[in-house]
Amino acid sequence: MPTLLIKNTTILVTMDDHHREIPDGGLFIRDGFIEKVGPAGELPTSADEVLDLSGYVVLPGLVNTHHHFYQTLTRAVPAAQDANLFNWLKTLYPIWARLTPEDIYISTQTALAELALSGCTTASDHLYLFPNGSRLDDEIAAAREIGVRIQAARGSMSLGESKGGLPPDSVVDSEESILRDSQRLIETYHDPKPGSFVQIVLAPCSPFSVTGELMRQSAVLAREYHVHLHTHLAETEDEQVFCLQKFGYRPVSYMQSVDWVGQDVWFAHAVYVDNDEVKTFARHGCGVAHCPTSNMRLASGIAPVKEYLAAGVKVGLGVDGSASNDGSHLLAEARQAMLLSRLREGITGFSLSNDPSRKLMTARAALELATRGGAAVLGRSDIGSLEAGKCADFFAVNLNRLDYAGALHDPISAIVFCQPGRVDYTVVGGRYVVKEGQLVTLDQPKLVNQHNRAAKRLLRHL
Ligand SMILES: [Zn+2]
Repeated sequence: MPTLLIKNTTILVTMDDHHREIPDGGLFIRDGFIEKVGPAGELPTSADEVLDLSGYVVLPGLVNTHHHFYQTLTRAVPAAQDANLFNWLKTLYPIWARLTPEDIYISTQTALAELALSGCTTASDHLYLFPNGSRLDDEIAAAREIGVRIQAARGSMSLGESKGGLPPDSVVDSEESILRDSQRLIETYHDPKPGSFVQIVLAPCSPFSVTGELMRQSAVLAREYHVHLHTHLAETEDEQVFCLQKFGYRPVSYMQSVDWVGQDVWFAHAVYVDNDEVKTFARHGCGVAHCPTSNMRLASGIAPVKEYLAAGVKVGLGVDGSASNDGSHLLAEARQAMLLSRLREGITGFSLSNDPSRKLMTARAALELATRGGAAVLGRSDIGSLEAGKCADFFAVNLNRLDYAGALHDPISAIVFCQPGRVDYTVVGGRYVVKEGQLVTLDQPKLVNQHNRAAKRLLRHL
């Protein structure tokens, strides 16, 4: 691969351990990795390709830690617009039961296109139903074509309505077939090396859709192959009631009972946790995928992000499935995280407090969650910051636009405080996915057309 020199940026945000922000900063990239990062005077003056980014802010590629790509086909479904989680799911399960392999492929491209246009370079997706011959392979093929790194979480559901679970029996699978397919996917696709574009994660869907035995067996299999574990947890009060009634535990204790705590585990949402459970996450190294928009959309609640960070819990951001967001804009999610955290402070008396130790989440802290925070949650040390030896994953935003007019005294905060739009460049492993504001790895108008046709077909009997 040719060398690439990025130069003359207005400011380059490294997110390294020293939080360096380098005016007139640049990157020298070779074979998909960063060889040098620094001000212009410390970088080579030439390369096979030189990209002058004067007037742009450059940041590490954003890391999305929780999504369901297929749900881009069921955004804003009227019957599911104003429901809480369990009713929203019950409305959508029968529609999702009609998904085909082609739907998985198309929806993956749509979600990743949106994510890339918002600065995302690595995304974890949680696919947990496989109707009509659908496979995780369909998603991986689509991700490879667009060129964004993927942590493909092999989801599963085995606890249907007839056994006391939430989903209809028509969308659950046998535990034997789930485990067999999980093993096949790891052996076929999982690449643990630095710079990997595909990693497999085992991800039984939630306490109310799989059995404890499948949780246990998935953990055994994941640890045998050194892959990570992921599930939804403590998302709503309904789930807490379900866990207490069905298993006799609160959600976090239930996870401990099935051996689901450790450095290799991260949970989506984790809203309903008490102080001891926050400490449990910290002690065992569990990560959290914070999904503020989804938590607001479904009226689930507000995750205690400040407490997690204070306790040393790894926290990243997730846009969550597009049926509960209903977008895949990761920079916008950083803004939501900052704003929701501030709202929580307000509810707990910030405006009346003169305690100088009480601090609001800053724009930079929100960007940190979206970059190195997400990388830590996914267990990846090769992404999340712009440093020598790390993947050449970054995005750039032109500051000379209406959205940032009047905010250039602090361009880094401006891209969070001001309404985020589309980014101008997204580069993954030294390759352009977005260039001059346009996707370069797929035909966007054609994709939108295909996607809308597929969505119409899925909903035609409603
Ligand atoms: Zn989710």
